[in-house]
Amino acid sequence: MRAGVYRGPGDVGLVERPLPEPGPGEVRLRITACGLCGTDLHMVHSLRPIIDPGSTMGHEMAGIVDHLGPGVRGFAAGESVVVEPLASCGDCEPCRDGRDSICRKLQLYGLRRPGGFADAVVVPAHRL
Ligand SMILES: [Zn+2]
Ligand SMILES: [Zn+2]
Repeated sequence: MRAGVYRGPGDVGLVERPLPEPGPGEVRLRITACGLCGTDLHMVHSLRPIIDPGSTMGHEMAGIVDHLGPGVRGFAAGESVVVEPLASCGDCEPCRDGRDSICRKLQLYGLRRPGGFADAVVVPAHRL
């Protein structure tokens, strides 16, 4: 599949990546739209970037459910969805209190996890 990756300050390009396979509790989406956010522009143009070269960008994504990982219920292939692009640990105090949007190990799809500037992305089903 095609993926839009950060290559260094001011440099984003298309590369080929293998189609990702969803693990337990995850869903693979075919991306239909992904916004270009001000955060993306800051990441690309910063001389002290917070994103690693080779990372697939894009965190404001919508898509169509393509493949369900083991144990996923409540979604069906072909369904249109949007993504809350957060990856929380499920283990820290905020996560255990149900406030996983302020997880101590919070990661963002399109920054530390592969994002939606791609033909497909794998995300947790509970973030759809
Ligand atoms: Zn944004
Ligand atoms: Zn957490």
